[in-house]
Parts: sequence; structure tokens; C-alpha cells
Amino acid sequence: MAFGWIDEQAEQRRRAGLVRTLRPRPADSPLLDLASNDYLGLAHHPAVAEGAAVAARTWGGGSTGSRLVTGTTELHTELERELADFCGFEAALVFSSGYAANLAAVTALAPHGSLIVSDAGNHASLIDGCRLARGGTQVVPHSDPEAVRKALQTHEGTALVVSDTVFSVDGDAAPLAEYAAACRERGAGLLVDDAHGLGVLGDGGRGAPYAAGLAGAADVVVTATLSKSLGSQGGAVLGPARVIDHLVNAARTFIFDTGLAPAAAGAALAALRLLRREPERAARARAVAAELHARLTAAGHEAVRPDAAVVSVRAPSPEGAVQWAADCRTAGLAVGCFRPPSVPDGISRLRLTARADLSEAQIERAVRVIGETRP
Ligand code: PMP
Repeated sequence: MAFGWIDEQAEQRRRAGLVRTLRPRPADSPLLDLASNDYLGLAHHPAVAEGAAVAARTWGGGSTGSRLVTGTTELHTELERELADFCGFEAALVFSSGYAANLAAVTALAPHGSLIVSDAGNHASLIDGCRLARGGTQVVPHSDPEAVRKALQTHEGTALVVSDTVFSVDGDAAPLAEYAAACRERGAGLLVDDAHGLGVLGDGGRGAPYAAGLAGAADVVVTATLSKSLGSQGGAVLGPARVIDHLVNAARTFIFDTGLAPAAAGAALAALRLLRREPERAARARAVAAELHARLTAAGHEAVRPDAAVVSVRAPSPEGAVQWAADCRTAGLAVGCFRPPSVPDGISRLRLTARADLSEAQIERAVRVIGETRP
């Protein structure tokens, strides 16, 4: 029977306790949210919602076509100009998602015969970009500049080193300056995904590449998402103008995808302008992360020291992690839960988002609930 094999897979998942289900979130959810990626608490900010509403009223519910046909509005180009300017890059290009931006950047910057050196901790969208690219991929151990250097040494020709700036599961930062140095020794390009760095790291949230002194570099390209700190939806690539022009002409997820919805562009632009006006939001997210980490550690939890706004807490087992997250939810606290096979290292953990808009009382409550529900 067609698709009959799906039932077998579903049964295997059930037996392994790995079934995933969707849980619709009501608009008036009573849960304290430490599970989302809304690092700056901007998704519900009135100015961001208004940016979306005004853009939808002005430009319509959709962008009406691919970017090269009718899907580029003046709002898109305004957002691209301001994003590039904020992060310190020559040019930017927005996409319908960060996932599409990563597929575009990796495939367009790794032609046939090239080598892609990919950090083992990279996000699925970078991994998929490597799979789609014409170049060959070598995966190197996580955050290991020496391994990157070695991989580049044995290759003659075009090479691209690909890494997250902040890894989404543990929230640890990549050694960007060392990666850049390894690239420069061999004339390789560096492509970094700043999904979890933009809005949190660097002066006023200008991102991890800015913090590492790599903003505007001719050999550095950055991808980002508009869906985390900027509280909207969509993705972006930032870099030298010739790289951006190349993507416009060569990146399939740019050329064949409908342009970013105007409401998403309007919301992202409003969030970006807010971030410029209120640069302290980025530092506050980092301070909340540090405080969460300190309190959890003091309470005897094993937590990874946060480099950005993600705090990862070790769980005793995959089942323990699931139970822990469920008990937190029952107690009114939403937390993320990572377990194999989502984590290749086999370590299960809770993932907490240190939102800039969390109050002291909320931080205290979160730590108390995590302690009381510990398996
Ligand atoms: N890169 C990283 C590191 C991410 O965590 C995510 C989102 N989970 C993405 C890219 C994809 O971005 P988007 O959700 O905008 O498609």
C-alpha cells in the first residue's frame, strides 16, 4: 500500500517515545515563556505589531511574487539597507526564512570543486545547504579552529568555512576570530549564521560578527533570521555587495521563492529601529542569561555558561528531560526540551530563553519551578 511504510516508522517512534506533536498556543497563554526565541521580547511589542499592520495595509497580505518579478517592495529595500547598516555590512538581502537564507548562502558560495568545512554543531539549515551545494563537505569537530585549519590545508582551490555564531542547543559561541584567521591563511571565505547572535551580542545587538571585529570584512558573509530577536519572520544574508549581487543572480531559494511578506518586513524594520533606540535591550538579555545561569548553578543544576541568551540545563536522561519539561509546563513554565536524536551528542537538556523583558520575579519563579520539578 502506498505510504504504508509510514505506519512502521510511526510505530518505531511510538516505541522509542519520540513522537512529536503540535500544541497550539492560545493568544492568552498563561505560561511564563522561556521556550521561544523571542530574545528581546519584541514579538508582542506594540511598535512591532503596528509595523506589521501598516505594512500589510500599505503593501498587501503577501508580496505577490518572487523578488525578481513583483515581490520587491520599497519596504524590502529599506529593510535591507537598514539591516546592513546596523550590522556594519555593505549590503543585505532578505529571504522568506532564515532556513532559505542559509540554503541560498551555502549553495551559492560553494561551487563545483570547492570545499565546505562545516562545524559539527551547525544548524540543520546549514547542514542541508551543504547537502545541496555542488562543493564537497568536510565536517570538523565542534568549535575546533585547528581542525578547520587542517581541513583547509589539504585543499587547493575555493573553500568556504561554515559555522553558527551561537549554537542553538547549548548557546555556546563559536571561535569566530580564530575561524576567520584560519580562513585568511588559505584565502577561504567564512560564512556564519548569526540567528542567535543578532540582537543579543555585539554593541547594541549588532551581532556576533560585529563583536568579533568581522563586520564589513570582504571575506565574511553572515546569515540571520528575522524570527528571533527581531520578533518577526524571515531571514537575511549580509556581506560584501558583490556577494549579495551574486545571490540575487544565483541563489535558487531567492530566485524561485515568493518575496518576504510585507507584514514580516514591516515588523522586522520596526524591531530594528526599536533596537537602535533602545540598545540596552541586548545587554539586558545577556544579563538575564547570566543571572539565570548563576541561580541555577547555585541551586545545584548543571548549566552551560551562556555566551548569549540561551541557557542549557543538563537533564539526567531523555525520559527525565521530557518529564521535567512537562512538569514545568504543569507548573506554568514553558521551557524547551532537547533529547536524542535532536542532539547528536546524546545529552538531553532543557533549553531556556533569557528574554530581555523577564522581570526579577519571573526569573525567580522560573528557577524555583525548575528546582521543584527536577526529576
Ligand atoms: N539558523 C539557526 C541557528 C536557527 O536556530 C534557526 C531557527 N531555528 C534557523 C537558522 C532558521 O531560521 P528560520 O526559523 O528563520 O527559518
